[in-house]
Amino acid sequence: MRIDVLTLFPEILEGPLKASLLGKARDAGILEVALTNIRDHTTDKHRTVDDTPYGGGAGMVMKCEPLFAAVESLRSKNSLERVILMSPRGKPLTQAKLRELAQAPDLVLICARYEGVDERVSQALVTEEISIGDYVLSGGELPALVLIEGLSRMLPGVIGDWESVETDSFFKGVLGYPQYTRPPVFRGMDVPETLMSGHHAAIGRWRRKEALRATRLRRPELLAGLSREDEELLAEIAREAPVPEEEIEP
Ligand code: SAH
Repeated sequence: MRIDVLTLFPEILEGPLKASLLGKARDAGILEVALTNIRDHTTDKHRTVDDTPYGGGAGMVMKCEPLFAAVESLRSKNSLERVILMSPRGKPLTQAKLRELAQAPDLVLICARYEGVDERVSQALVTEEISIGDYVLSGGELPALVLIEGLSRMLPGVIGDWESVETDSFFKGVLGYPQYTRPPVFRGMDVPETLMSGHHAAIGRWRRKEALRATRLRRPELLAGLSREDEELLAEIAREAPVPEEEIEP
């Protein structure tokens, strides 16, 4: 898969793209990430990428010309079918979205700065806007990295053990289950006996139940469309430790 990232600050992305699993995915040729500096697509002496907003007000707006030219320069390398703008106005990024994006042969990600881009960029260049959450950062570079790292985990071969992806939070619609490692007792706190029993079926059931328990307590809105087995586990949880209504987040 190929991802072209358009940014004014490629140096923000360079380090994280080289490290750890992302670096390995790129070395293995599973993921190609190319950085384009938007400023290299200006034509004036001052290499201007932004200008004051029509109508007045604070801040600067990213101009159309360099952004259109930067995207169009990728035509021979990228299908340009999916041109994504990182934007707090976009659709919230989810695990399902990452899985969908990982199916595409290529993507373009635009990282904005200042007050954002001229609306005509959204209108005629961008196919979709994605937000990483309801808060505002100074630029789209960290959001783009979040998207790239999350997406890379959905590409075959990036995570050696697919099972570890399947047991992650959100993959199967609920939060992850609690994990423990040695020692069996730490400062008086025990590891649950079932996990040390070696009984795979019992361990599987314990993990699903604890995943459901954590989800019920922290993110009850995720508990929709569960299987009958899950409903039974949830009923069991409710009988064991009734959570006062006010402790379940709305
Ligand atoms: N004035 C804009 C915010 C601009 S922040 C507004 O109110 O919507 C500058 C840039 O940072 C944005 O254009 C976007 O590219 C990026 N950015 C900031 N917060 C983001 C978020 N939560 N998700 C995705 N991109 C974000």
